[in-house]
Amino acid sequence: MSKRDYYEILGVPRSASQSDLKQAFRNLARKYHPDVSQDPDAEEKFKEINEAYAVLSDEQKRAAYDRFGHAGLNGMGGAPDFSDIDLSDILEEIFGGFGFGGFRRASQRTRNIPRRGEDLQLTLNLTFEEAVFGVEKEVTFSRDEICSRCRGTRAEPGTSPVRCATCRGTGEIRQARQSIFGSMVQVTTCPACRGSGETIATPCRACNGRGLERKRVRKVVAIPAGVDSGNQIRLAGEGQPGINGGPKGNLYLLLRVKPHKYFRRRGNDILLDLNINIAQAALGAEVEVPTVDGPEKLVIPAGTQPGKVLTMRGKGVPYLRGNGRGDQLVLVNVEIPKRLTHEQKKLFEQLAASLGTEVKPQERGFFDKMKDFLGME
Ligand SMILES: [Zn+2]
Ligand SMILES: [Zn+2]
Repeated sequence: MSKRDYYEILGVPRSASQSDLKQAFRNLARKYHPDVSQDPDAEEKFKEINEAYAVLSDEQKRAAYDRFGHAGLNGMGGAPDFSDIDLSDILEEIFGGFGFGGFRRASQRTRNIPRRGEDLQLTLNLTFEEAVFGVEKEVTFSRDEICSRCRGTRAEPGTSPVRCATCRGTGEIRQARQSIFGSMVQVTTCPACRGSGETIATPCRACNGRGLERKRVRKVVAIPAGVDSGNQIRLAGEGQPGINGGPKGNLYLLLRVKPHKYFRRRGNDILLDLNINIAQAALGAEVEVPTVDGPEKLVIPAGTQPGKVLTMRGKGVPYLRGNGRGDQLVLVNVEIPKRLTHEQKKLFEQLAASLGTEVKPQERGFFDKMKDFLGME
């Protein structure tokens, strides 16, 4: 397929000046841009126009084309490489003020969209009892707030933002790219103004033009009874400020409960290991054991075996939702004395004589029960 003459495509004489070329290109690009043209061949024509202008606007390529025609460009690395040519300025000039097609939509996508502020997270350490009964905790943390000096405008009071020179106030950079579908316009957010279309000539002295100031915030938070490690408390709107008028983010408090010397949690039940002596196990006893409510009486029935679990109703952790509390489960361990006084030894010898020498195998099930209990943790 023989290529059309570049001057012919642009409709200009061979003596055309650079400004004539630019004017011709501008008129044709406006007419045939695929985003605005109704012409079914617009894409092909626009591609042709782009190629012609890309060559003729480059003095070196134009000279080669003038002398040798299309063949002259082959010696210069073949057909023009459009990724080297930045047509964004001229396309910007042509389409910048328009609201056509993809441009307006892209514009609304990237600019000044209200966004919710970032969430913040803090870890809050609680004692075992605080988690069980709830507590009021004071938390301090840093977050950004709207700068009180510039009220978020980022400009020193008395001055105003100016139109961004890089994107001419549009907040976007458009670049023409050649692809197999023809010339495509790639829209990216302006890096100079980050899409706002404005830059600050005199930044606010208090915030150095951020529009935000870092503040230390103090909050008293009510932690409900019954929380556990890994629970999160959400403080709505206590996070980072929103962007472009969007809502504030949230503050999340991640709870971590410190281990207790005696107690462990299993859901809403509290587990306690208790050592009793051999006489208490055999004869039964009334003992005092720790609970989260303070020392409480616990009846050890006569003949209590090691591994027995005694339940103290309602001495566990309150339910977060609903009423009532879990139980305290006491795992009984019978301690065998390792050292005996002379008198204790005599008593055990009498007991031994009374109990006899017979031994019998334990029924299956004791170890399984132990494992079941321990496995519940
Ligand atoms: Zn400020
Ligand atoms: Zn800009």
